[in-house]
Amino acid sequence: MRQGQLYIDGQFLDAADGRCFESRNPFDDSLSGMVARAGEADVDRAVHAAHHAFHQGPWSKSTPEQRAIILGQIADGMKGHIARLVRCEVADAGATRKKGVDDVMSTIAFIEEYAGIAAGFRHERPGKSPGGLLRYAPVGVCAAIIPWNFPLKMAAWKIAPALATGNTVILKPSELTPLSSLILAEIIAETDLPAGVVNIVTGFGAEAGEALTVHPLVDKIAFTGGTHTGRRVMARAAQTLKRVTLECGGKSANVILDDADAEMAIDGAVYAMFYHAGQCCEAGSRLFLPGTRHDELLERLCDKVGRIRMGDPALKTTDMGPLISLTQRDRVQSYIGLGQQEKARLVYGGSPPEHPPFDQGWFIEPAIFAGVRPDMRIAREEIFGPVLCVLSYDNDEHLIDMVNHTDYGLAAGIWGADAERAGRLATRMRTGTVWINDYHRFDAHAPFGGFKQSGVGREFGEEGLMEYTETQYVHIGQEHTKELRGRFKTVVPE
Ligand code: NAP
Repeated sequence: MRQGQLYIDGQFLDAADGRCFESRNPFDDSLSGMVARAGEADVDRAVHAAHHAFHQGPWSKSTPEQRAIILGQIADGMKGHIARLVRCEVADAGATRKKGVDDVMSTIAFIEEYAGIAAGFRHERPGKSPGGLLRYAPVGVCAAIIPWNFPLKMAAWKIAPALATGNTVILKPSELTPLSSLILAEIIAETDLPAGVVNIVTGFGAEAGEALTVHPLVDKIAFTGGTHTGRRVMARAAQTLKRVTLECGGKSANVILDDADAEMAIDGAVYAMFYHAGQCCEAGSRLFLPGTRHDELLERLCDKVGRIRMGDPALKTTDMGPLISLTQRDRVQSYIGLGQQEKARLVYGGSPPEHPPFDQGWFIEPAIFAGVRPDMRIAREEIFGPVLCVLSYDNDEHLIDMVNHTDYGLAAGIWGADAERAGRLATRMRTGTVWINDYHRFDAHAPFGGFKQSGVGREFGEEGLMEYTETQYVHIGQEHTKELRGRFKTVVPE
């Protein structure tokens, strides 16, 4: 079992009032760690450390190249702890071993990629008007609030762009999965990053999270989590007009076209929906089948889902582990009950297995509903578990109407042989990402984020970096241009 302390101003500390909380393994409900529970006083201390590091320390004045070196040190540090980080993601977050390895390796690769993006970021650019200069300054003190489904990845997705642009950070991981962030803190403590630039406060959303959203010295909130929480975060942050980016929920459409290769498309549909037991914001939870091939594809789908190996996430052979908590399993079960009440056809699974090794943890069989209509609640609301809704469409117009009939707009998938048709359909989908003959494909250079109630702003790439900057326009009067030009590192237009 791990003991975890807060990481504030380069020091590992207990909470000011000495409180702790338990983190438990969703596979068997055993204790995976005891962690300090940050209250308002601890958050205040972390924010002051970040504020001091930003305004008085060297970090916000460092060059992109210097920041890239530190990001490289963090990535290198992680390489010395791969096995430990994987074990942690398995025990604390219920990741299968395969997912844990993928999360850790892709996080390292992401930080390395971002170091390269950071090194190439131009903070000063010539403006279009004569004598004009555009500066992209760091926002300042950034609070990063993240969920439990990809704890390590999410921490890196927030910390790397914030650091790359010269900001300071306070990270609050989910109360359900605090442990990998604390290993990250140990790794960061070994680098040359100045104290106070990254602070990590473990605690509860209603306490530590809320305290961050209203703290007057926090300049930006970078939030990932449910849409409901995102709305609250935005409303609270509005009191001090903080910059806010939100990566929220989804009900993503995954479309199989009538000319698609059945095997590839069904493999893709199973991966899109059931990866990490459906606990992915971009999960392809609405599967659209062409009416002409509906029955054939549904049969293949059930057959394929029947081959998913559910079990102990620590085993290499396991495809699907438990849900994160009993609360989450209850929520998923209630949606399965709701789907039946709404008269959708439960054609596969949906029960919690009660025999060993499943009886101690939060397992539920993958479930498939057929005959789903777009106005049913199971087709409109994010379930965040392994429940797939299958809808049938007649033609492309019918399809697009149904795909866009949702409050969300995070991602979509299209499987088909005709790239031109798939591309045309993609442009009509109101989502931040469309994958064609692929799914769950993330790239440090590819902006990710939501239309509609799936979020505000983008992560990754140059767009993602821009979210951590403020634009400053500097104008130099023409008569003084010659004398002043030399003071700026960049070229001021004549
Ligand atoms: P959540 O309940 O909204 O929590 C997200 C984070 O917010 C957690 O750290 C939580 O702390 C904190 N929080 C809760 N209440 C808060 C408050 N009043 N003020 C400030 N912070 C607060 O979401 P979740 O259940 O952890 O994660 C699942 C959701 O995340 C799904 O809806 C999923 O779609 C979404 N998600 C979106 C993306 C994306 O990129 N768009 C990626 C991953 C997940 P506690 O854990 O301590 O409550």
